[in-house]
Amino acid sequence: MTAKGDYLTTVGVEVHVELATAAKMFCPCPNSPQDLPPNRAACPVCLGLPGALPVINREAVRLALRAALALHCRINEVIWFERKNYIYPDLVKGYQISQYVRPLGEWGWLAIAGDDGREKRVAIRRLHMEEDTCKLVHAGGAARIDVNRSGVPLMEIVTEPVLSSGREAEEYARKLRAILVYNGISRCRLQRGEMRAEANVSIAPRGSGELGIRTEIKNQAGFNHMRSAIEYEERRQAGILDGGGVPRQETRGWDDVNQRTFVQRSKEDAHDYRYFPEPDLPPARLAPDWVEAERAKLPVSYDDYLGELRGLGLGEADIEALTRNDALGFLRLAGEGGASKTVLLAKRLVKDVFSLVNSTGRPLDESKLEPLPFRRAVELLEEGKLNGEGFRKVLETLFNAGGEAEAAARAGDLIIERDDDALEKAIAKVLSEVQPLVAEYRTGKKAVRNAIFGRVMRELKKKGDPRLVGELLDRALE
Ligand code: ADP
Ligand code: MG
Ligand code: ZN
Repeated sequence: MTAKGDYLTTVGVEVHVELATAAKMFCPCPNSPQDLPPNRAACPVCLGLPGALPVINREAVRLALRAALALHCRINEVIWFERKNYIYPDLVKGYQISQYVRPLGEWGWLAIAGDDGREKRVAIRRLHMEEDTCKLVHAGGAARIDVNRSGVPLMEIVTEPVLSSGREAEEYARKLRAILVYNGISRCRLQRGEMRAEANVSIAPRGSGELGIRTEIKNQAGFNHMRSAIEYEERRQAGILDGGGVPRQETRGWDDVNQRTFVQRSKEDAHDYRYFPEPDLPPARLAPDWVEAERAKLPVSYDDYLGELRGLGLGEADIEALTRNDALGFLRLAGEGGASKTVLLAKRLVKDVFSLVNSTGRPLDESKLEPLPFRRAVELLEEGKLNGEGFRKVLETLFNAGGEAEAAARAGDLIIERDDDALEKAIAKVLSEVQPLVAEYRTGKKAVRNAIFGRVMRELKKKGDPRLVGELLDRALE
């Protein structure tokens, strides 16, 4: 299928993201659908039982607001929720609470590198909150329902039809993910379905000034799949237009094995969702003071932070490792005390923390290591209170069990002796024990100094700061 015509591609992306709250969107059930056995996070609100009353989770609104602000959206002061009614096996309530008429945020943008190499601001049409549905589990020849996911707070982010290729769509989704993770809004673990992207694709003859008929490609497993699906659709739709036909508006899936899209559902049977205002939730007002306070709490933007790191001289390999490990937000929090430490912290993250990530197979955000204890551990190393080995032991403890750096260092008996008196006493003791060596040294056999140094370090049970011990020893020998 090579196109005869000269067509322009248009893509709009719809993304669903789970918000990293402790509780669900409208009830206190835990928001940890995959960490619990099925149907353990299930209350009358999750099930939509008659008489159950939903209550808006303020933390979910705060995270969605934070996302809307980070994406430069206009924030609606008064928002409300609607019921979206449809029948589907995973929707035990028979409706989903969503936002339709008045989303939380509108008209934002996100900058990507466009196909022409220049910065492109992708227009975001809307950002709204809603709840997730139950999960269908197909196993043992049966379909079962897990309610744990029902009511998990979601945010949907919809772009204008302004992306021009699979590459741009992939870049948009990756960048969006990075920004949401950086700002602590969602963990966006794709394999857990915490972020799901759908692409709408159409092509039209260049210069026609109109958009073609689109297909919507559902739930790709990864952003690279989304790109492949879009590129396949470009070719498929071009084949239809070349042959004088018209593509059908339909929903398609991506078959990664055969590298092609396939029809899932035609838009003719598109749902009428009969949206109506959620009768159990009154409209909410986002107090402008609160919105502004949240805006003020936003960190430096993701792009600016990357720029800062490059400006501080951090190399591209380190930056690549940090972004691949979703560690920029962690680094920023750790470095908050001062820019001068940031490069040091970054290098320690890449060298020592990521090696723990690799050896344990546990991502940074699933470890117990927190930014400030990490910073403190690096400071202890810098202050000479930990040597390299002690530092790595402390990190390992913090990574596996959490806690504070100093406490971990003390518990492991790793704090280095910096008391000059104690060091001098140890040196004097050793020198008196190795008088023959000292005599050799004084006749010019400087090489024995290392043997004496080793004895002193052993005397100090390796907790001496090697540099300081060396200096004091040399002074004692001269
Ligand atoms: P729906 O209600 O079916 O979800 P929307 O109008 O909300 O449709 O659009 C959904 C997504 O599809 C948006 O990201 C939008 O930018 C994109 N889109 C709309 N029309 C087209 C088109 N002709 N080609 C490509 N994308 C489109
Ligand atoms: Mg849609
Ligand atoms: Zn519940």
